[in-house]
Amino acid sequence: MQLRDLGERETIRRLTAALHDSASVSVGPGDDAAVLRPAPGYELVVTTDLLLEGRHYLSEWMTQAEIGERLAAVNLSDLAAMAAAPRWALLSFGVRVDRTFESLEELQQGLVAALARDGAALVGGNLVAVEGPEFFSLTLCGEVESGAAWTRSGARPGDLLAVTGHPGRAGAGVALVRELGERARATDLAPVLEAWRAPQSRVALARALASAGVTAAIDVSDGLVGDLEQLCAMSGVGAEVDVAAFASDPALEHAARALSLSLETLRYGPSDDYELLLAVDPARQDACAKAAESFDAPLSFIGRITDAPGLLFEVGRGERRPLAAEGFDHFGGSAG
Ligand SMILES: [Mg+2]
Repeated sequence: MQLRDLGERETIRRLTAALHDSASVSVGPGDDAAVLRPAPGYELVVTTDLLLEGRHYLSEWMTQAEIGERLAAVNLSDLAAMAAAPRWALLSFGVRVDRTFESLEELQQGLVAALARDGAALVGGNLVAVEGPEFFSLTLCGEVESGAAWTRSGARPGDLLAVTGHPGRAGAGVALVRELGERARATDLAPVLEAWRAPQSRVALARALASAGVTAAIDVSDGLVGDLEQLCAMSGVGAEVDVAAFASDPALEHAARALSLSLETLRYGPSDDYELLLAVDPARQDACAKAAESFDAPLSFIGRITDAPGLLFEVGRGERRPLAAEGFDHFGGSAG
């Protein structure tokens, strides 16, 4: 059934009827506002991010459930970067009236399931009819023990630099789709495509690392070097990245060959990987590595923080050279 036949009120009634109660919610969806029950001794951590059709997702490459999961993932990533536990989400969205209710329901199910895996519930929302591209905007609230939130500004010279997962894959994935079309579905490229289509939540990993000596954190949503620049700027420090320290990534190497680009261009360039980039107290490296061991995302120590504000270097292969993200604008600019 199309939304134009169902009408706004019935659409909302059906969507909210499918939502579950949560222990930390006193009044849930369906009232004028939600009433929430924050835990004593915790601070509230809030973020918002939206997906715009055609720009942040391509409907022909993702199911509706995957679009919902992606909306959760981009917001969960911001809370992971603060070491916060996700709790409550509000969804505002604009959809065309010729969309079916079933497709909207599938999207919400993907969103709700992804939020629930990290302990968050959808507690309200708002909807509007649009004629152009659709959009889905999520506001996600979480909790963190008072004073324990990670920020971008705490990195100190001498701290180690660590990153989760395989940075560069998501940007490579979207570049492959745009350049190769259907040929991007080749099996040796699958992990790269997957990183773009279905970014994994690092919330549980972040919570496990919360007391493991992390001094500053940012999630990789622009690309490794772009986000490292931001972390360094906020902390008033510089950084050195060791080219030999990255976990080996044959899938990214395949992608680099398929795109006729260097591995480093993909690894450092624009890429919304939703991985975590961390500065770590060197005395806590073992604790940090141990806390990360039980997660299937590798945690790689890729360099160190220096006292030269704003200066980024790449070291290895017997040389030390300025580190910069090479854009690949011929793919159309934005990675996401
Ligand atoms: Mg972020």
